[in-house]
Order: sequence, then structure tokens, then C-alpha cells
Amino acid sequence: ADNPGRLPCPIREGAERHPDAQALTFAGSAWTYRTLDVEVGRWVKSLEDRGIRAGERVALLATNHVASVCLFWALGRLGAVLAPLNARLTRAELSPMVEDIEPRLTLALGALIDRLPSAERLESFITTSTASSPQCASLAEDTPRVILFTSGTTGRPKGAVITEGNFRASCKASASNLGEHPAPRWLGTLPLFHVGGLAMLTRTAYEAGCLILHERFDADAVNRAIDSEGVSHASLVATTLERVLDARGDRRVPPTFQLALIGGGPVPVPLLERARAAGLLALQTYGLTEACSQVTTERPTDADGRTAGPPLPGMSIRIVGEDGSARGPGEEGDIEVRGPTVMAGYWRRPDATRDVLRDGWLRTKDVGVLDTRGRLTVLSRRTDLIVRGGENLYPAEIEAVLLNHPAVQEAAVVGIPDARWGEVPVAFLALRAGQPTPTAEALDAWCRQSLAGFKCPARFSWVDALPRNAMGKLERTVLRQRASADVKG
Ligand code: ATP
Repeated sequence: ADNPGRLPCPIREGAERHPDAQALTFAGSAWTYRTLDVEVGRWVKSLEDRGIRAGERVALLATNHVASVCLFWALGRLGAVLAPLNARLTRAELSPMVEDIEPRLTLALGALIDRLPSAERLESFITTSTASSPQCASLAEDTPRVILFTSGTTGRPKGAVITEGNFRASCKASASNLGEHPAPRWLGTLPLFHVGGLAMLTRTAYEAGCLILHERFDADAVNRAIDSEGVSHASLVATTLERVLDARGDRRVPPTFQLALIGGGPVPVPLLERARAAGLLALQTYGLTEACSQVTTERPTDADGRTAGPPLPGMSIRIVGEDGSARGPGEEGDIEVRGPTVMAGYWRRPDATRDVLRDGWLRTKDVGVLDTRGRLTVLSRRTDLIVRGGENLYPAEIEAVLLNHPAVQEAAVVGIPDARWGEVPVAFLALRAGQPTPTAEALDAWCRQSLAGFKCPARFSWVDALPRNAMGKLERTVLRQRASADVKG
């Protein structure tokens, strides 16, 4: 309804309006909108032959691959739903997800098939049909397109149902914030089983751009793509941005590169400053699966990396206290989000849905603050907050100070129970190779230069590497358990 005259599938639309424009590159091959459209048409035929109908689910276990791209668009043409599963999960973690989804078809790429007994090979599906289907459904805004499981740090995994309308609204809002670009070339290193990856996939298609898809993140491959494949946009997280910068050395970023979105977790300001010094405009963004990626993003013209920026056009944010009352600018509280990118709900979980979605407002379970110009600062997830003698401590703030120490490669701060203060912060650190190990006293002194005494960690522990989940996110629960065990010792 938004765009009368637009065709339901942006790949079909591209094939008619700009057939020879590049749509996708992957593993040394390239597809134009015309050739990708043909490929997607074949997928539609194969899926139809298998009896896939509107509303049915297809589960997919794959690392980034052209077949996942085709499957996503083909299922859209049928009005069927893609359930992408995280390729780093174990068999035991995947099986409840597949049971929950009840897919009509399950596909797995390569050796991943060992983890899904019921799956068929994605490879064999790729080559089955040479015939094509013209089927291209016009989907209502509320039609489910994907079911995405959140990393689920606790309890049963929940599948966020993201609709056609969510994707369209998200792409439109993102483009209007970043500024229209005639044909963006997005670097696709984020996994397509994550909302960040699907956001890049849809954004490039709706903007007549090209997705430069990589099987996985590799800092050297990213730099090659930036230097010689005309990448204009990228989405990275803090750790991958750092690896790209480390691998670049002194080489400046070419002018073809417009900007990178950095989010998914705390974003240290010095890192964004370092990126800019190298000629790479890095914008902080805040988003989550349940809101189809970006909710706030810095404006390219007004970015200093210190906040996650204002809400994207069409989105609203409010900060509320624990009693549910609204908080004003400068006052901390729970972040709630409303707008056309907010998910329909969790798949087959009415109670969990009611818990997070009320009157159109999504409770994010993150804590933050808005400034007088409506820009958001994300302080912490509610569950990671450390309350020491009634004062709120934000792990990210303390970690940022520790990360500034020349010997520190990775830092994580968690709270542990304390008889006197209720909770105190303790730090886990992984050191940079070749650096002398600093003493606890030296680190304490380092923290005290930048932080009030009550924020400084009560204890420091050295580890080889921090525990991370399948998405590369810090597993704070593991560290909390380890820290409490150390104390009981
Ligand atoms: P689960 O909710 O199941 O544990 P997850 O945390 O991996 O999974 P995602 O939707 O992938 O869920 O990530 C969204 C979360 O990432 C946000 O709720 C927030 O905690 C964090 N995040 C995203 N952007 C930022 C940012 N700019 N600063 C701080 N944290 C951020």
C-alpha cells in the first residue's frame, strides 16, 4: 500500500526495472537482478513441487550461502515462512527449535546436516529444478516472513515472528536515516540466521543495491572488499570493527566507502574515534531481533559515537521506571520501543508475548537514558546491571575503561553477591599477546583515574579468552557462576 506500482518481490521488481544491475556476489560469482530473479523462480518451482504452501515453515541450517538468499526470496513469493537456525548451535540446542517450528521441510548445508537428523541437503535442492515458477504473491503487511530465535540466554528459546511489514518498514526507515544511495554495496559478513544479516539482505534489494555476501567474517577479506569491490556500507559489531582496523594498518579507507553501522552490544567510543581517524565513518546503532534490527542509529551528519542516536523515522522510544511511570530526559530506566518494525510476537508463546508487548510497546529489557535531543544511550541489559549499595553500575562503562589499558585485549565485568554491599563488580580480563601481565594494584589504579571508587572492580581475574555464545556475545551467566565459585573457592 505504501508504494503503489511496486512489485511484491524486490528481486522481481529489480529484474524489470534494472535487470543488469548487480544484485549479489558470493564466493567469486556474481548475479544481476535478472539472473537472481531466474534463480529465485527455480527455487519457487522446487518448493511448489515439494508442496510448500503459504503459511508453512521451512527450517534452514546454513552458513552464509547464495542458496539462503534464494530461499528467503522464494519463500516470500509463496507466502511461506523461513526459520533460519544458528549454524553454531549443537544438535541438542537445535532439536527443541525444530520441534517448536514444525517445519514442512528442513534444509542443511554441507556437514551441518549431521546436526539435524530430519534435514535434507541444501546442495541437492539447489540443482533440482531447471523449470521456473512465475508465482509471486502480494503479501499483506502482517504476513510472517521469518521466525528468528533469540540467543536465549535462559529458558526455552523464543522465536520472534518478523513480518513482511516489519522488513519493509525497517528498510525504509534505515534508508531515510542514512540518506538515499543510488545503489549501495553492502558488505554481508553478518550471518543470515541473524536479524542483522537479514536486514542487510532486504535493505540492498529494496534499494536496488548489491549484497557482497561473505561466508563468514574474515578481516582480510573484508579489507579486500572495501579496497577493491566498492563496498559502500557495512554492518559490524565492536569486536569485528576492531579486527578490520587492526588488519588495515595505515591504509586509508577509499572514498567509495560511506559508512559502517556498529551495534549488537556495547560500542566503545574510542573505537569509533579510531575508525574515523582511518577514514571510516562508524555510526553507533541500537537494535534487537524483536524490532527487526535497528531502532536508533546516529545520523551521519550528527554523529560523535557517544550515543546510539535518535529513533529511526517512524519509531518511538520511551524510558520508564520500575513502576511503569514515564521518565524524562536524563533519567535512567527501561527502554521501550514502538513502531512498524516491532515483531508480531513470539511463535506459539502467547504468555511470553504478553510479557514483552503491551499496547504496541515492546519491553526491551535494556536500561538506558534519552538526552534532551532524543538520542539514546544504552547503559546495560537489565539482567547485567550491578547494584552496589543502591548505586547502579553499568558493566559496559567499567569495561570501556579496562579496554583502554594497553595490556587488555578483552574485558568483562559482572556482579557477584557481597555481604556488605549486596553486589560488587569483578573483572575478567584477557591480555594482549606479548604484553606483561599488569598487577591487580596497577589495574585498580588505572580504573581509579577514570572511575569513581565504588565503580572499580573488587577483584581481577585473568583468562585466556572470554566465554562467548554462538553469536559471539559475552556469556555473562558463565562468568557470574565462575566468579561466585572463585569466591567460595
Ligand atoms: P537474547 O535476548 O536471547 O539473549 P541477544 O541479546 O543476542 O539474545 P539480539 O536481538 O541479537 O538478542 O541483540 C539485541 C541486544 O543487543 C539488545 O537488547 C541490547 O542488549 C544489545 N545491544 C544492541 N545494540 C546495542 C548498543 N548500541 N549498545 C549496547 N547494547 C546493545
